[in-house]
Amino acid sequence: MRKQSTTENVDFFDKSSSAKRSVGLLVEGYPVEGLSIGGQETCVIFPSLRMAFDIGRCPQRAISQHYLFISHGHLDHIGGLPMYVATRGLYGMNPPTIFVPVSIKESVERLFNVHREMDRSELKHKLIGMNVGDEFQIRKDLKVKAFRTYHVIPSLGYIIYSVKQKLKQEYATLSGNEIKELRFSGVEVTHTMTSPEIAFTGDTTSDFIVDPDNTDVLKARILVMESTFVDNAMSIEHAREYGHTHLSEISSHADKFQNKALLLIHFSARYTSKEVESAIANMPATLADRTYALLEGL
Ligand SMILES: [Zn+2]
Ligand SMILES: [Zn+2]
Repeated sequence: MRKQSTTENVDFFDKSSSAKRSVGLLVEGYPVEGLSIGGQETCVIFPSLRMAFDIGRCPQRAISQHYLFISHGHLDHIGGLPMYVATRGLYGMNPPTIFVPVSIKESVERLFNVHREMDRSELKHKLIGMNVGDEFQIRKDLKVKAFRTYHVIPSLGYIIYSVKQKLKQEYATLSGNEIKELRFSGVEVTHTMTSPEIAFTGDTTSDFIVDPDNTDVLKARILVMESTFVDNAMSIEHAREYGHTHLSEISSHADKFQNKALLLIHFSARYTSKEVESAIANMPATLADRTYALLEGL
């Protein structure tokens, strides 16, 4: 059954189902919150990492996240940015760190200047422009790397890596004191291990899947990817024309995803959550078993 409008969607008024959804998802040990509806608003939140990917219209839960990664300049992904910064300032929180494609960095700076003129507040934040392949150390144990995505305007995806210091194999049998002595004598006893934890695509055609530079995206523990269209009423060609991905393309690339979990987002508002769930259930079993959907608000 096709959803005509929000008011006709009975689920919208069903308190028990909205209460259930507000609990959010748990994907590979990470709580995930936020919402993502194509053309309306996208903000995907990993509260345990203090991170939000895109800001949508700035849902309340996004405000407490320290790091924000913006994929591109469409308003359903960036519209709430000034509110995010202003509200953090109002609550006396630390200025956030915001990553944007370098191609829109100057526009974002101008946007904040216009708001400063109107609002007479500082709108403090740290803005970092990213290019494909750029890396940035977020914390001692986390870094981000930007990857190429394929949308109708300049866009970027982001991979979050965990960074750990591991004891080198040759010292594995030594005691704690022996290792300490070695370290004091200037020997490098550890090496750095990085592993891709979360990849976020923002809006893109499925071309990012076959980009040879994007192998880590397909290895990330969790791949958050858009799947705007899920049924035969909308063709792959239509999805591609608007810079989006069709669920059937994800299915046809099933063998490429080494991810522990896929989290699908950005479904068109034409679908109900039941329609999305049944489309996912019909994916190849190797994918359906590890695919989650962010259905909040559908
Ligand atoms: Zn979008
Ligand atoms: Zn877009």
